[in-house]
Parts: sequence; structure tokens; C-alpha cells
Amino acid sequence: MGRNFILLGPPGSGKGTQAAMLAGSLNLLHISTGEILRGEIAKDSKLGRQAAVYMDKGDLVPDEVVFEIVEHVLGTNRKAGAVLDGFPRTRRQAEMLCEHEIAIEKVIYISVPDEEIVRRLSKRHYCEKCNKVVTYDDEFCLVCHSPMTVRADDKPDVIRKRLQVYHELTEPLIAFYKEEGCLAKVNGVGTVAEINRRMLATLDNSDENKGGGIDNT
Ligand code: AMP
Repeated sequence: MGRNFILLGPPGSGKGTQAAMLAGSLNLLHISTGEILRGEIAKDSKLGRQAAVYMDKGDLVPDEVVFEIVEHVLGTNRKAGAVLDGFPRTRRQAEMLCEHEIAIEKVIYISVPDEEIVRRLSKRHYCEKCNKVVTYDDEFCLVCHSPMTVRADDKPDVIRKRLQVYHELTEPLIAFYKEEGCLAKVNGVGTVAEINRRMLATLDNSDENKGGGIDNT
């Protein structure tokens, strides 16, 4: 069994960017359930059409549907392990990982205050061609130069709903993983490079940090 990590945090906390960097440094898969679901919507697949009904409103896609995606990606890749980005998002999803004996080495919780989240999400743009979300205001994608759009789930009323869903259903996972003894809290306010350094520090110092530095929630 490979090394598996979870990145936990509110929408707009920078999970996606940090998960990709962490996966790159540790040579692990980066599994973003949100990105996979948006890819399915872009393909107009049956799964995409089912998921869009929930995502466009800011609701969560049913646990079984999302778990099947994660299990499939983990099962069909021979890499050593994965950084799970945006999964689990409910207590039930966390239980499903345990039931399927998918061991988690560390859960990194990226902490960002709500006001900062709202500010960031309202600036977020999406490139449909690259299937990537960015937080700059440019009209065109810096990578492929296609026109940028605002993601259906980054519209202001949907942002509010997503934050509410996060507080209600996902935030309790912080206590869940704290109890399991594998939670590391990282301050998510700062530059991408600073946050990346903080994340890597939680891995380097995991043994010393077990006493307190790692988890001040
Ligand atoms: P994200 O890009 O991670 O913010 O995810 C975008 C949207 O995809 C979420 O607001 C949910 O509707 C859906 N989604 C992504 N991951 C999950 C998950 N683990 N459980 C349920 N829904 C999810």
C-alpha cells in the first residue's frame, strides 16, 4: 500500500494548487474529485450530467458516486499512493476510506478565514480547455489563451452555499482526523511558496510535531 495524504480545507483555500505541488514533490498521484467531476461535465457524460445537478447549486455529489471515482483512480494506477484533494468531504466518505482499508498517512488541514475565502473565490476564473481554476482576473488563460469563464459554482450565491456546506459537513472531519492522530494544521494565508514550505515542514517534522506544533486546532 502506498503513501496516501488528504488535503482538507474550505473551497478557495488553495488545496488544488498545494495538492498538485505536494504530489509532484512526493511522486504521488494527485486526485481532485472536483476536477474529475468537472471533466465529466465537460464531456457531457452520464456521470457529469448527474453531478452537475448538485455542483451547480453548491451541494455535494452523493458519497457513493464520489467514492467510486476515487476507488477507480486508485485501483487503476500503479503509483505509490495519492494526494486526495477535495475528498473526503463528509464523515461517511472518511468512513468509506477506512472500510476499504485505504490507509492515510497524514491529513493536512489548510486553514483560511471565511472573509479571505469569499474575497478569493469572487476573483476565481476557470479555463474550460485546461480544466483548471485560477485566481487572476485576466480575460484569457495564460496557458492556452482561451477565454476564461466563471465556474458555475463560483457564482456569489453558490459560493455562500458551498461555504455553508463546508462548515456543516466537511469541517467536522478536522475533529475526526485529530482524534485519529494524523492531523496537521497549516496556515493557508500567504504566498503559494510559503504555504508549500509549511506543508512540507509538517511532513519533515512529523515526529517532533506530534506533541503539539503540528496541530493547534
Ligand atoms: P472542488 O473543485 O473540490 O471545490 O469541488 C467542486 C464541487 O464538486 C463541489 O462543490 C461538489 O459539488 C463536488 N465535489 C467534489 N468533491 C466532492 C466530494 N468529495 N464529495 C461530494 N462532492 C464533491
